[in-house]
Amino acid sequence: MKLAQRVSQVAPSITLAIAAKAKAMKAEGIDVCSFSAGEPDFDSPAHVKAAAQKALDEGKTKYGPASGEPKLREAIARKLKTDNGLDYKAENVIVTNGGKHSLFNLILALIEPGDEVIIPAPYWLSYPEMVTLAGGVSVIVPTDVSTGYKITPEQLRKSITPKTKLFILNSPSNPTGMVYTPEEIQAIAQIIVETDILVVSDEIYEKILYDGVKQVSIGSLGPEIFERTIISNGFAKAYSMTGWRIGYLAGPIDLIKATITIQSHSVSNVCTFAQYGAIAALEGSQDCVEEMLQAFAKRREVMYERLNAIPGLSCPKPDGAFYLFPDISKTGLKSLDFSNRLLEKEQVAVIPGIAFAGDDNIRLSYATDMATIEKGMDRFEKFVKSLI
Ligand code: GLU
Repeated sequence: MKLAQRVSQVAPSITLAIAAKAKAMKAEGIDVCSFSAGEPDFDSPAHVKAAAQKALDEGKTKYGPASGEPKLREAIARKLKTDNGLDYKAENVIVTNGGKHSLFNLILALIEPGDEVIIPAPYWLSYPEMVTLAGGVSVIVPTDVSTGYKITPEQLRKSITPKTKLFILNSPSNPTGMVYTPEEIQAIAQIIVETDILVVSDEIYEKILYDGVKQVSIGSLGPEIFERTIISNGFAKAYSMTGWRIGYLAGPIDLIKATITIQSHSVSNVCTFAQYGAIAALEGSQDCVEEMLQAFAKRREVMYERLNAIPGLSCPKPDGAFYLFPDISKTGLKSLDFSNRLLEKEQVAVIPGIAFAGDDNIRLSYATDMATIEKGMDRFEKFVKSLI
């Protein structure tokens, strides 16, 4: 069968593939320590599940609006105002099948063949693939540890051409966990406004911040940047609702309307009763978010200390998300080889940095329990020591 050419231009998601492999190995009885997908190990909050269950019992099992349940759109608009200082109405919001789907909708609605999208590397692996599927051109801007894996204002300015349509900002970042400071966000916003391009702010990790670090939502910095900003977010990471698949986009009405049209011909609507769980997540107590954050903070300390205690490895301390991105170049192995051998020899699953355009690094997720972290790090240390 001759498949469409676009399929040959993208690769399957390595994060999902490795996570699935680790889960399958566990199901076979193999004692795998998985630091692969960024998937919190906690159950979804009880009140969120109860709200979805109630909606199910009440018959909220029919088609809903392609844009999302009105009550959820309103709750999201309120959240964006309260948490992020963004003045959106419900009609500026679309509910999607997860954060990934938000970005996919956005890129499909915005990017035309030849349009350039600026993506700082290391990046979350699905960004460039989405751009490719839309026929756009990813302009990858490499960053390194010297700038904390952040794009500098000079780099951003230099990367902008007459074809630039969109800049993808992800703070806190997957895979590095770094967070842009308010001053850095301000400098980026100024360039976006001056050059009149758009920015999508992927804020899926906004609640996962450590040591009092604050995240500034770029669109909150003034009316000119606000009208050039699109927010992408979701419920998976903050509320441990990965499998629910609920995310959202907020932005200018014309753009949101375009994504609703696309959604009306693709997924129709996001699972109706699941959306009632999301309403409860936003409107109920936020203690669950704080409890998970406290657990992530402890795990971060342990994994960070353990990694940096291994001779030859180094890793900056991330301010957010739940990933560490150590440099493994002193082992003499590139990231894919390193990750495959680690899984084979020690049954520890990590994501090779090449997936994020960082082939001298690997990504470890600490969104898993402490016992797995301790055991997995013992094995990891043994493996690295056998190489150096
Ligand atoms: N976003 C998570 C990760 O990077 C989940 C997997 C995925 O969608 O890529 O691990």
